[in-house]
Amino acid sequence: MLPLALAFALSAVLTAAVTVFAWHRRETPLFRMNAFVGFWIVALDVLNVIQILTPGPAGARLVVSSGILVMHVIVAGVLCLSMTVADRAWRVSRRIVAWLAVVPLLLLGLLVSDPWSGWFYTAMVPVDPYGMFVPVPGPGYWVSAVYIYGLLTASMVRVARVRHHAPRDKRKLYDWTLAAFVPPIVVNIAGMPMHGRTVDMTAIGLAVTMLIVYGALARSLPQYIQVAHRQVFDTIADAVAVIDESGRILDVNAAARALMRKAGLPEGPSGTPIADFLGLDFVLSENADTEQTLTDVLGRGADLHLRISPLHDRRGRCIGWALVARDITEANRRRREAEESNVRLREQLETIEALRADLVEQAVRDTLTGLYNRRHLMEILAREIPRAAGEGTPLSVALIDVDHFKRINDTHGHDAGDVVLTHVAALLAGEVRHDDVVVRYGGEEFVLLLPGAGAEEARARLDDLRRRVGRTPVEVEGRHLTVTFSAGVADLAPGQGPRDLLREADRALYGAKRLGRDRVELAAAHPPRALESGPGEAA
Ligand code: GH3
Ligand code: MG
Ligand code: MG
Repeated sequence: MLPLALAFALSAVLTAAVTVFAWHRRETPLFRMNAFVGFWIVALDVLNVIQILTPGPAGARLVVSSGILVMHVIVAGVLCLSMTVADRAWRVSRRIVAWLAVVPLLLLGLLVSDPWSGWFYTAMVPVDPYGMFVPVPGPGYWVSAVYIYGLLTASMVRVARVRHHAPRDKRKLYDWTLAAFVPPIVVNIAGMPMHGRTVDMTAIGLAVTMLIVYGALARSLPQYIQVAHRQVFDTIADAVAVIDESGRILDVNAAARALMRKAGLPEGPSGTPIADFLGLDFVLSENADTEQTLTDVLGRGADLHLRISPLHDRRGRCIGWALVARDITEANRRRREAEESNVRLREQLETIEALRADLVEQAVRDTLTGLYNRRHLMEILAREIPRAAGEGTPLSVALIDVDHFKRINDTHGHDAGDVVLTHVAALLAGEVRHDDVVVRYGGEEFVLLLPGAGAEEARARLDDLRRRVGRTPVEVEGRHLTVTFSAGVADLAPGQGPRDLLREADRALYGAKRLGRDRVELAAAHPPRALESGPGEAA
């Protein structure tokens, strides 16, 4: 009796030790499940020890009933472990847990009522030579056994199928997993009640299973993870370097090596301080990620964007940094090109805008004198007349015509005539006030628009202008010529349009010519409102 209890105790200690190791590596789902199964194997071992040491049949029944429940939990764990061995991405979902809980819960009901129904264990009988009690199985026990073996078979089939499709050199983990099923099954079948009444030794077989599975996982998983890490590390397009706490490079990936070759640096920089390597001082922050951009690294024209993240151990101590460098030389070059072409485009747009403004200006200017032309006058009048009418402010127009201009042309030539016209235009333009508009109306005729000026004020200003022109000779081919002009002034009457106003001024101009020239005449007092009609021309 005692040796058997010791055997179970030893099995419990051994399994507990392996379980602790597996629990330490619980970040990997397979080890986590391994630890889960191990925990319940330990529980089963302990129950077996208690069973051996329990004197009466009632206590023994309670212990074996608990044992059979624990057995179901273990088998469910084995199923999940096998599924994950077969497919590393497989995860225990709530649905699966719910399904796996159905039978153990039914079983619990059955076992609670078993002392009276005897459906699971018909009786508890003492066994020699130990003097302890073992159960006599009833129909429920066999149903439970079939269910357990069903789950185990499903687990093995799952692993065996994956093993079948795996390449030869990748079969080790599957082989060992399948091997791990053997000890508990052999022990269980050997100890089944039909072979005589003995204690169920399955827990000891399971301890061996635990050892095998942990060993197989421990041997194969780090290798997988290391290979995977290395390959992922080298597949990343960005250059990655691992830097230790003293700022020295520990490891670099393939992209980093390529970048170093490109920069003409020797390979294998292990131990090189990262600051030396990049020829720059670095911000290595222990707490937060830092980002920086380096241009023209080592004077080789390479631009790098760096992201430096601290690496922490389990206790949160900074043990180094991961540096991710992206080569942004090409991106920067493209950005610069885009910026340059943007600048060029903006300059071109400005030129086009200036040309357009020039064209607009040319369209309203007279080429000989540089004054506004008749078209512009009509636009201004169309705008100013409604404004003056609306605001109730006066607006006057003067039509100016150079006297005997034909003679100048005839006597001194057309070019001399042009010089005189330019001279008169400059005098007019030089005398006008801010809001006034001077226009070359055509030939040797000019229009002066005087917003805000009434008839009398306009006449006075025109008289000033006339005297000034008459006093100011112009030099043409060595000779001084003096010209005069006549002008007709009209002020805006209610309801008048541009053409009405110009016609009135024209009439007044005609009067000035008739009265002997070199004078300013006012239009007659406002006539009754007339319909718009074409303006007449000065004589
Ligand atoms: P009046 O005092 O009656 O106005 O006499 P006028 O000689 O000025 O009369 P008219 O209107 O008949 O003459 C205008 C002349 O102006 C006729 C035309 O040859 C000349 N002329 C028109 N435009 C230009 C120009 O751009 N340059 C020059 N040189 N002469 C021009
Ligand atoms: Mg004329
Ligand atoms: Mg004239």
